[in-house]
Amino acid sequence: MDTCTKCIIPSDSRVSFDNEGVCGICRDYDSLRIHRKENFDGLLGEIRSARGSHGYDCVAAFSGGRDSTYMLYRLTRLHGLKCVAVFGRTFFTPPEILESARRTCAFLDTPLVEIDLGKTYSKEFCRSMIRSWLRKKHPLFASLACCPCKLINRHIFHTAREYDVRFIAYGGNRLEHFHAAASDTSPGGSERFSPRHMMRDMWRTVLKGTALTFNNPELLRHLSLLVQASVLYRNQYTPYLRLRYPGLRAFDYFHYAEWNESELARILGEVGWGMPASCVTSWRADCELEELKNLMYHYDLGMNHVDAFYSNMIREKAISREEALNRRERESFSPARFRHVLRILEFEESEFRFLLDDRARAAVNSSRRT
Ligand SMILES: [Zn+2]
Repeated sequence: MDTCTKCIIPSDSRVSFDNEGVCGICRDYDSLRIHRKENFDGLLGEIRSARGSHGYDCVAAFSGGRDSTYMLYRLTRLHGLKCVAVFGRTFFTPPEILESARRTCAFLDTPLVEIDLGKTYSKEFCRSMIRSWLRKKHPLFASLACCPCKLINRHIFHTAREYDVRFIAYGGNRLEHFHAAASDTSPGGSERFSPRHMMRDMWRTVLKGTALTFNNPELLRHLSLLVQASVLYRNQYTPYLRLRYPGLRAFDYFHYAEWNESELARILGEVGWGMPASCVTSWRADCELEELKNLMYHYDLGMNHVDAFYSNMIREKAISREEALNRRERESFSPARFRHVLRILEFEESEFRFLLDDRARAAVNSSRRT
């Protein structure tokens, strides 16, 4: 596969390329740095001085995945904060992740609030969005398939109120920023999550959603869920959450702190984090639907989250291009996960085989034999 000469974005993706074979993202690259590391000291001081009446400093949004485990460890062990972890379980949460989440919280002496999103995260909804995507191939359907998961934000903010804490930490990693061609209109730096930008983002979502519903009236029966999941609770910075919980402040820990992969590996080992057996990488191990979404994104955009993540790591000089190419080869696709998520959703494998390249198809065939 031909790629950008600086990163690993495929040349046949929707990203533009110049005559020298350099992709538009590398050409106009502006660092993904969002906040200065030093600014975290000020924030930490505020968190410490605002300890709530129940003796806690901070709620941690905790998926049981590798980044939020890394974050929870650093918040409690390095910064000495007393945290409450909120964990949301869906149909796509591997049992190993649930066990790891419980083990980590016991190890770090942190209360774990488990939320079962199974009721709102209906399998039927997910199936119908993927069915619509299969019919129309509109990229928004791929995003909507997992939008009910966003409702975890309601529980996270609610838990912060219940435990009387004013700060909520999320483990969002700036290296995961997906410059998804034309649909990415985010400004750089701290402006990316400013109230002004989030307000504009909300109106854009409403307009896009209205146009999509107009052309696909079957969406009307999910209207309440769609508004909640993709507008009100879409992320931790929405205008709605800011108005509804004026005293609470959500932040992404790794927008301040350095995310270091070797430190992360050491910490995962120390807390006894277990990678699900079907995974080929610890990244995004917390949700099985990721496997299918990654294939759908690749179909829509000619690139997937793995390409975007490793390309960001190259641009931020955290990894060499050669290593990124090797890792993509090993970590782009798990046949076992692919088959498992189709089983959960009760889809026929044959309906999705067009998404697989030759290599992936061979891997699926050989995994069937074993
Ligand atoms: Zn590039």
